[in-house]
Amino acid sequence: MPQTPIFRRLCFGTLLGLSIVTVVAAGQPVDRAAWIDSSVTATSDDPRRVPVPKGFNEPAGSIVIRNARLFDGTGAPARPAALLISGSHVLRIGASEAELAAPADAQVIDVAGRTVMPGLIDLHTHLTYVEQFGLPAATSDESQAGAALRGQERLRYYVESGVTSVRDVASHGAAPFLLKQWVASGRIPGPRVFAAGSLITAVGGHATEGEAMRTAPSYPDGAVYEASGANGFRNAVRVQFKRGADFIKLGSHFSKEEVRAAVDEAHALGLRVTVDSETIYTQTAVEAGVDCVEHPLPRSDETIRLMAKLNVCSVMTLVPYQYINAGGGYYFSTSRRFTETDAVNLAMAKKMDAAGIKIGIGTDLVVGWYRFLPEPYLQELRNYESLGKTPAQALIAATKTNAEILGMADRLGTLIPGKLADLIVVDGRPDENVEDLRKLDHVIVNGRVVVRNGRLDIPRHVEEKAPLSNFPVLNTQSIAK
Ligand SMILES: [Zn+2]
Repeated sequence: MPQTPIFRRLCFGTLLGLSIVTVVAAGQPVDRAAWIDSSVTATSDDPRRVPVPKGFNEPAGSIVIRNARLFDGTGAPARPAALLISGSHVLRIGASEAELAAPADAQVIDVAGRTVMPGLIDLHTHLTYVEQFGLPAATSDESQAGAALRGQERLRYYVESGVTSVRDVASHGAAPFLLKQWVASGRIPGPRVFAAGSLITAVGGHATEGEAMRTAPSYPDGAVYEASGANGFRNAVRVQFKRGADFIKLGSHFSKEEVRAAVDEAHALGLRVTVDSETIYTQTAVEAGVDCVEHPLPRSDETIRLMAKLNVCSVMTLVPYQYINAGGGYYFSTSRRFTETDAVNLAMAKKMDAAGIKIGIGTDLVVGWYRFLPEPYLQELRNYESLGKTPAQALIAATKTNAEILGMADRLGTLIPGKLADLIVVDGRPDENVEDLRKLDHVIVNGRVVVRNGRLDIPRHVEEKAPLSNFPVLNTQSIAK
């Protein structure tokens, strides 16, 4: 039986005058929401919910989107609509522009009947993973400089594919957190970044085998952290928390004591936990109270039943295994000692879906596969459809369900007034055929138009006025001496 603490309480908050009731289920993180009155105190747009000044990271001005065919992600059918974005939020949605009462100086985007829908979310990315292992090339440079440059390049690929949030489940050192901050403040274009920091595993665990990357703590900026013992796992969680983690990523192998210590520590800090695990380790992790399991890797029927019972979700990531299998297979790995053909993986995904487990969409594009975008994301939507789902259900999994798995459902995932303005404009009907997502027109992230007519739109910088007095003095005295 799971030995997770029972946190069951009601939290009350307000969002634009609407009362919200959140039920915190067994074993989930302590979110401390009951102590923050959101009508008084603004909080960060991530699962940490840190108090921020009102208007923090919010762009100025308003945007009117007229003549939309709105697929809002709630499950409602697409309908004619107009939207008013104010700063970073969707302020109003009407059947026509006349209902918006928009300010006269609002930027107007006429989408001429194209589909407007919530931005896509990718729950499994590695923004800074190397493109090659064991080669002294720029693509395998594990310095923070190399990691940041790879990350910035990949952000562009995602956002030009209509992805407005990525969940980074392991990257190098501080790089994913800096990428997150620079995107959030509008200094570089990209999707929102929700980062775990380094993947935590035991010595010799998944991602540390063979010619894998350098690992923390001996290499502090590693994307993988090798820990030992319950206290070691607890400390590794705190190291990610200190850097700014939005959630915690664990990898097998680990002992029961180690995984339980990590999960308990993360939950006490208010962070959800997801795990890359297989066979017996998935059972152990689910018993310890993890919130999510990545990949379609083998697990027993008992584990599947327990996942369903405890509301542990699955990010099935079938597409990377299809690529691995197309390349021959997953060889020489000590953490992948099982058969994982496409048929076996799909059968596992079907079992999880049939058991009622919540399934999210993620692509796990390692090495250079991000260059295939948007195809891998579309392939994962097709994989989801192969569970017997409609295109509209696939889009809802990619938006609403993914936001729920992130712990961001109150701010992301659907287009309703009060939500953050993350949306895409598609010249087609992706809710009827997901292939239409290729015809991406506009992408808006946090109320900023980032993609226009299918490509990055970077506004010219605003020239700041140089002061004529009190000019900052560069003190070179210490150098002169
Ligand atoms: Zn991964």
